[in-house]
Amino acid sequence: MLYLALVDCNNFYVSCERVFNPRLRNKPVIVLSNNDGCAVSRSNEAKALGVKMGVPLYQIRDLVKKHDIQVLSSNYALYADMSNRVMNILASYSPIQEIYSIDESFLDLTGFSNIRALAGEMRQRVLQETGIPVCVGIGPTKTLAKLSNYVAKRHPKSKGVFSINELTASQANSVFENIGIEEVWGIGRRLTASLTASGIYTVAQLRQADIASMRAKYGVVMAKLIRELRGESCVSMEEVAPAKKQIINSRSFGHAVAAIEDLQDALAHFVSNAALKLRQQNSLAGMLQVIVMTDRFREDQPQYHPCITVPLITPTASTTELQKWALCGLSQIYREGFQYKKAGVILTGIVPADFHQGDLFACQTAAPGLMEVMDKINARYGKGTLKLSQDGSRMAWAMRQERKSPAYTTDWQQLPICS
Ligand SMILES: [Mg+2]
Repeated sequence: MLYLALVDCNNFYVSCERVFNPRLRNKPVIVLSNNDGCAVSRSNEAKALGVKMGVPLYQIRDLVKKHDIQVLSSNYALYADMSNRVMNILASYSPIQEIYSIDESFLDLTGFSNIRALAGEMRQRVLQETGIPVCVGIGPTKTLAKLSNYVAKRHPKSKGVFSINELTASQANSVFENIGIEEVWGIGRRLTASLTASGIYTVAQLRQADIASMRAKYGVVMAKLIRELRGESCVSMEEVAPAKKQIINSRSFGHAVAAIEDLQDALAHFVSNAALKLRQQNSLAGMLQVIVMTDRFREDQPQYHPCITVPLITPTASTTELQKWALCGLSQIYREGFQYKKAGVILTGIVPADFHQGDLFACQTAAPGLMEVMDKINARYGKGTLKLSQDGSRMAWAMRQERKSPAYTTDWQQLPICS
């Protein structure tokens, strides 16, 4: 059985603020979205007062006044940096980590002993070293790890750690009977409405649903979701839409690299991936963060895990613009003499493309429509057909695929040879 953990920061933006302003503790606090529009993070006290996620500030003015709710604008540079610290600590607990969003990370703990104690230690260390409280959910699939985390968050008795793997079948079933389907990863409002209309209200009911007929009605993703709920690991990350608050593109290299040119090459590649995702969701990024890191499992080598946040004067989705600033950030944090094993870019401060605020001092931006043309060509002729010259031309960092057989049928250079 797999032991997958989902570590999720509690009320992340609010928690970040509280680290630096202890007066906010034990008080209702909310953090607002860009331009102070809506509540995007709420302390438990604010939740208890009935402040709903995403509610516009103007709708709760009376409540804010009455209960002296502390209202803060978002500070994405802070959250991104705190996120980086939390993720760095978590990374030391498993070689397999997937940073799922700014405040959530999956860790594969399969094969470790005493996993509950390990999870408790993880919580303790993150709290001590960053001030951020987290909860850990453990399950045999990602979907169940998410659900476990939901339980860990809500039940004080769990002390922040809950593992479905440790339950008997009947214990697990009674947990599932008490959770509504709307809490399941990937089930949104519309699916919830449709499922409840056909009499499926709880996770227990969804687990028992007939897979073939559910596939016929809702498609293959639903079938996989039910399997995941039954403990069979099959949903990969791409099949559930990631949080749009930020876009991350990062990767461990096949081989460590030391030259800045190789890091530039990798980073430019990650930026173009992230920028494409940004354009696909029709958004702009107001800030980017560059991370590079050495191999933390090589204790014999000097370690260096810097990160830098670059605020952008004007939110943008242009690959050229984002690459320029990412490389600028890299040049600030790069140090010679280290073997770098991983790099990445995080786009944050994301706003809808039509939210765009012009830059009073900007000159005419180069080639409007260029990105649109590039995306269209790549969509038609394949990813990477047209790219900027910086993007992945050296590839010294490329993923290790040593056991991969040659591309016999799709690459002229790798055709099988008879001799
Ligand atoms: Mg969270």
